[in-house]
Amino acid sequence: MSIDINKIREDFPILQQQIYKRPLVYFDNAASTQKPRQVIDAICTYYERDNCNIHRGVHYLSVKATEAYEETRKEVCEFINARNTHEIIFTKGATESLNLVAGSFGKRYIHEGDEVITTIMEHHSNFVPWQQMCMERGAKLRIAGIDEKGDLDLDEMRGMMNEKTRLIALTHVSNVLGTINPVKEIVAIAHQHDIPVLLDGAQGVSHLPVDMQELDCDFYCFSGHKMYAPMGTGVLYGKEKFLEALPPYQLGGEMIKDVYIDRTTFNELPFKFEAGTPNVEGVMGLRAAIQYLKNLGMAEIAAYENELLAYATDKLSGIEGVTLFGTSVHKASLVSFLIGDIHPYDAGMIIDKMGVAVRTGHHCAMPLIDFLKIPGTVRASFAFYNTFEEIDKLAEAVMRVKQMFS
Ligand code: PLP
Repeated sequence: MSIDINKIREDFPILQQQIYKRPLVYFDNAASTQKPRQVIDAICTYYERDNCNIHRGVHYLSVKATEAYEETRKEVCEFINARNTHEIIFTKGATESLNLVAGSFGKRYIHEGDEVITTIMEHHSNFVPWQQMCMERGAKLRIAGIDEKGDLDLDEMRGMMNEKTRLIALTHVSNVLGTINPVKEIVAIAHQHDIPVLLDGAQGVSHLPVDMQELDCDFYCFSGHKMYAPMGTGVLYGKEKFLEALPPYQLGGEMIKDVYIDRTTFNELPFKFEAGTPNVEGVMGLRAAIQYLKNLGMAEIAAYENELLAYATDKLSGIEGVTLFGTSVHKASLVSFLIGDIHPYDAGMIIDKMGVAVRTGHHCAMPLIDFLKIPGTVRASFAFYNTFEEIDKLAEAVMRVKQMFS
């Protein structure tokens, strides 16, 4: 199936509006995507017909809500081709998934003198938890660099792997540069050294087909809201052998088997990592979002978004004074740029007044921005509901910024 852009746009009510008397152009998809009517309806239907706490009741509504919740776990499992549904843990987002692994994996496996490898292109969510955990446990965080195109220095990373390395934690796709890292290759090399690999899939899962069995990574983390699902939903995929071995992350209801005055036994997977009442309506929305993506087809989405990327790269690099950051040939659909020496905030504000929503600043990747020695970037990130005409409007807005500062 190919992308029917007009039909798709009808599904997204928020895109129908005008801002500053202009049609809204939404290019902040790497921060959060908009939600189709199907997702909004799933949330409403849940509250109108099925609302109830899950896993704890024998009555009709509780059983129905529990079944729908567990059906979603199956849906996620299939979507990312995990081996087992109990390897899917619901969280409130990529950040929580990453903190869960850093906390629990750190406690269990990381000791003084050990090493963790990450990269300079990480989002703070996949950097700070490892940095802090290594500091607490007397371990060393090693940081692989990038080249001028924004590709990971794979030789450097390979050279860092040794008998002290306990884990490699890296992003699947950079939220600033768009670089798609060669994660399958990295996992294969790391596994030759018996090193597990965690992938931050926050920017991967909405743009590319991802397959846990093919990638063979040990952990994969992502957020629902970046894949057309509600905020406050997310997933941690972990291989059973690790999830079994890790201590629970939060304590409370649902994650226990038996509680006595002097001890507690913990529940089986996945519940061991799902303490407390979860975001059930959000998970209903996540199910609808996955069905929506499956209907469109991830390969079709990737192909269309690649066309948008190529068009935008061409348009922007044709404007004198525009510098693009992140020019890897393996790239997801976003462009990060600066216009001359105009501060990204100033540029972003003018672009916004032209009806185009872009993100400006360090994009929660300050180590990378420092490495690039820039104040930040303007980032336009595309989704399958965006159009070539909208990219023309971005180019017009960039020209306007140039004019205003000339
Ligand atoms: N990792 C990457 C690569 C991201 O781009 C983001 C958000 O922008 C995150 C992690 C954190 O995601 P969330 O804020 O949804 O937890």
